[in-house]
Amino acid sequence: MPDRVNMEKIVSLCKRRGFIFPSSEIYGGLASCWDYGPMGVELKRNVKNAWWKATVQERDDVVGIDASIMMHPEVWRASGHVDSFTDPLVECTSCHLRWRASEISNERCPTCGGELTEPRMFNLMFKTAIGPVEEEASTIYLRPETAQAMFADFENVLSTSRKKLPLGIAQIGKSFRNEITPGNFIFRTREFEQMELEYFVKPGTDEHWFDYWVKERFNWYINLGIRKENLRLRQHGKEELAHYAKDCYDIEYLFPMGWSELEGIANRGNYDLTQHAKYSGRDLSYYDNEEKKRYIPYIIEPSGGVDRSVLALLIDAYHEEVVEGEARLVLRLQPSLAPMKAAILPLSKNEKLIPLAKKVYAQLCPSFMTCYDDSQSIGRRYRRQDEIGTPFCITIDFQSLEDNQVTIRERDNLAQIRVPVEKLEETLQAKLSGEPFEATPLWATRQK
Ligand code: ATP
Repeated sequence: MPDRVNMEKIVSLCKRRGFIFPSSEIYGGLASCWDYGPMGVELKRNVKNAWWKATVQERDDVVGIDASIMMHPEVWRASGHVDSFTDPLVECTSCHLRWRASEISNERCPTCGGELTEPRMFNLMFKTAIGPVEEEASTIYLRPETAQAMFADFENVLSTSRKKLPLGIAQIGKSFRNEITPGNFIFRTREFEQMELEYFVKPGTDEHWFDYWVKERFNWYINLGIRKENLRLRQHGKEELAHYAKDCYDIEYLFPMGWSELEGIANRGNYDLTQHAKYSGRDLSYYDNEEKKRYIPYIIEPSGGVDRSVLALLIDAYHEEVVEGEARLVLRLQPSLAPMKAAILPLSKNEKLIPLAKKVYAQLCPSFMTCYDDSQSIGRRYRRQDEIGTPFCITIDFQSLEDNQVTIRERDNLAQIRVPVEKLEETLQAKLSGEPFEATPLWATRQK
């Protein structure tokens, strides 16, 4: 993999350009916790919006929810998380570091070579207490996945949305896992965001819908501009499947540390609603009006990570190239995902240029995420915009003062076109909605 970017370069770009920083860095940071900065928050929001649009907005068989992170503790007993959301851990008797038993190859501590304890089970859920008295009855958990709320809310959603099966319930939100070995930047953290869909179907149609969602979700990543050769599907072997799951595929991306999971798609059978019916005492079966009978729906679950998608997109978009003898680093993010759509750059800090540049900036702001920059040389400013993936730089020069036209510089092919100020929004809108660039850039040639 000679031309693949390593993680250090991604981490450094993220820090330098305001995508992602270590959390509470002024206090030395907190292990594996990260903050999204001004560019990162836009990219992350664009990823979530793309998922919501494809999963909820453009479909009539999926509705969304936004559930509480803290749920009734019985939820986690019913789901099996209290008993079995555990990893076997060993501890080094000299340096006291803990390791997943599965990561140990020679029975000694990988850091100091010390002796290890026997494996002990460690639950990955974060516990906290609700109310002022810390007693057993008030122990609750931070959710380790968003999915359980879709099962617990199934009855309410079904009756209020007046939908029939197949019906999906979608949610994007934070989840928490006390991971033993977090790492690889934002790939594995203890607090992360998930995009999950629980798709409730009639038993017997589950295999059809499972295949459908595996394809649908794979294509979603391709449509976001991720190169096909960096994505693959991996079916779980029998020994890897959760005891209730009928089938499961991972969508994997070729991260710098190797192929790793981006999203899992599982056929969960009727396990979830059966368990919640048992623990809650509610009848969670569905009355099928056409078949004139009741059954417990089967569930197909595509479950993806927002942060892992952001990381894969950054890695895939990262390009170092040489243009006319000069090195440039460019993030070839699809324009819909780019944090900034346009940058307004007066050619210099000349006092005659600035009022027009500010006017153009104010004109674009309501329609597009736009930034304004008049510091340093124009070359350096272009470089900064390339590094954050801004698809269009709009330059205001002395000619603009006479003809009221500005130059649009396109990020990928560096083509430059001049347009009248009053046509600027229209031109950008057309380009952003997919009108090909002058010379077709990479992202536009990818599979639709
Ligand atoms: P892994 O095997 O990598 O621990 P998992 O199989 O436990 O992942 P799931 O429970 O299937 O993961 O969660 C669905 C998705 O949520 C994952 O595909 C991933 O994108 C995301 N995810 C899970 N755990 C984390 C984490 N600790 N940090 C960031 N994202 C995560």
